[in-house]
Amino acid sequence: MEIIKKILEPEYDRKPIYRTEESGNDFSFACDECGKTILLDSKRQIDNSWNGKTDSLANRDFEFLKAYYKIGLNNKSADGGFPVFDRLTCSKCDSKYISYCGVQEFSNSAFMVTLNGLFKTESANLAKTVRNSVIDILNLLGDYEKQLDYGKTVGDYIAIQEMVCMWFDDNYHPDSENFIKGFSESELIKLKEFNDYYDSIFNKIPDQDIRTLHIDPNWEKLVRLAQQTGNELKTQHNNV
Ligand SMILES: [Zn+2]
Repeated sequence: MEIIKKILEPEYDRKPIYRTEESGNDFSFACDECGKTILLDSKRQIDNSWNGKTDSLANRDFEFLKAYYKIGLNNKSADGGFPVFDRLTCSKCDSKYISYCGVQEFSNSAFMVTLNGLFKTESANLAKTVRNSVIDILNLLGDYEKQLDYGKTVGDYIAIQEMVCMWFDDNYHPDSENFIKGFSESELIKLKEFNDYYDSIFNKIPDQDIRTLHIDPNWEKLVRLAQQTGNELKTQHNNV
């Protein structure tokens, strides 16, 4: 197991991240590579406190982690609880992290969880990042409600401009290596068809008001195409 970057090291007197009966306080942190919020599920740590690890980790990893964090035969974590290791995966870029928690039962069936250690063990999968962000923009282009909400946030004019730029400038880079790796051949063809249609209409669409945009036949067709293309990407699994 490789430690690419240490994020949190054990320290005595660290406050618990979770206590039973004080709800809503699962610990989260921003992915070191893409900023996406990653959640540490406290209940998952509690449920696995007798095993010392969740099933996301192999025994070999477990042995490494116990040695690295100097968990002795008394099986105590730095906070005095039971040590539990978990692997957390960023849903956007596929970076991987290892968490080291301690779980203590402070009264009958009431637990507290302390995060003692956290490190990054695998860097982002750039092809997967590209794929996920293309799916995100297709979700927006295929969803009238999301477009209205986006317009409310930044104003309709900016929202319409951004929906164009996010496709052409930020996402559709069919010659880049990670783009090609991120999709199957048939997906690349679908994306090109979508791109070519969008390219043929983007300078003819109403650009001031989202409700006006929504009754434009060219845009209606684009929304349908975005839905179809997005659905195909979500149902096809390639080896990214
Ligand atoms: Zn990430």
